[in-house]
Amino acid sequence: MPHSYPFLTPEQKKELSDIAQRIVAPGKGILAADESTGSVAKRFQSINAENTEENRRLYRQLLFTADDRVNPCIGGVILFHETMYQKTDDGKPFPQYLKERGMVVGIKVDKGVVPLAGTNGETTTQGLDGLYERCAQYKKDGADFAKWRCVLKITPTTPSKLAILENANVLARYASICQMHGIVPIVEPEILPDGDHDLKRCQYITEKVLAAVYKALSDHHVYLEGTLLKPNMVTAGHSCSHKYSNQEIAMATVTALRRTVPPAVPGITFLSGGQSEEEASVNLNAMNQCPLHRPWALTFSYGRALQASALKAWGGKKENGKACQDEFIKRALANSQACQGKYITSGTSAAGGESLFVANHAY
Ligand code: 13P
Repeated sequence: MPHSYPFLTPEQKKELSDIAQRIVAPGKGILAADESTGSVAKRFQSINAENTEENRRLYRQLLFTADDRVNPCIGGVILFHETMYQKTDDGKPFPQYLKERGMVVGIKVDKGVVPLAGTNGETTTQGLDGLYERCAQYKKDGADFAKWRCVLKITPTTPSKLAILENANVLARYASICQMHGIVPIVEPEILPDGDHDLKRCQYITEKVLAAVYKALSDHHVYLEGTLLKPNMVTAGHSCSHKYSNQEIAMATVTALRRTVPPAVPGITFLSGGQSEEEASVNLNAMNQCPLHRPWALTFSYGRALQASALKAWGGKKENGKACQDEFIKRALANSQACQGKYITSGTSAAGGESLFVANHAY
């Protein structure tokens, strides 16, 4: 049955799939630097830095201006609204600066989670009102991809059917709006690592959530070749007493993805979800060494696992700029190797092995 009302021209489809392919080109992944002002407050508090607009600009500038060693590692950078309109010391808008380095500019467009009434503490994500107009503006201002984060929780009674369906639908609605404006949507249904569930339960829930997401994307006529998926890795809950190997995590994750994510999707860019920097790199590497066939690029879209050591080394002090950039470059190189299955663990970063888990994480 041909599609009666195609909503994208062949040129629009080509633009979207080219953008997606550039972001996940071999060796490349995403720097998630789109922490909301409230999330930055928590990060800055840990290093005793004041959460001012200028400090946020200075810190992001350090990441964005790291030397050319990061060029083959970072395909895209996700910005928060404020950062989109900030400039380098020389007065160049950050989006323009990143584009000139060959990095695709992304923008977080969701407005955070709100309670889903009548559920056991579950949420949906808001931000659809005005999204059509905001996307048109962001595209003009240099954004070629976007991110929208939904959150699901594993407990004995969740995720509920309602939460799975509602979050899948809102992700699909967001994705279709983005594509109308030439913006590649990153679809992020994050299943939180909170809880004491085992690996099998996380795998089962991940499969159910992803299957619902791809059903909704199909219902909304979303062009899969012009999307990216940003899922959690399949891991046991943070307080599960059994520790699983990186190979077990990789096998469970790739199995869940193979059962639910169509091969038309060009790339899967994992969030780090509170794993330590090392764990996030080693797990990604194990997935790229996993003996199962993988039709999509498997790479990173890390926030904490690219920034924890860098943030610590910076400590809010101007004189530590170089040290901050060195730590960021180390993680970018490590993850670039990991997304090609070539990472040999070194364990030398300042915060490399430290857990970055935050209970009930917000972004
Ligand atoms: P973490 O890698 O810190 O989990 O964050 C990535 C992200 O963008 C979550 O929305």
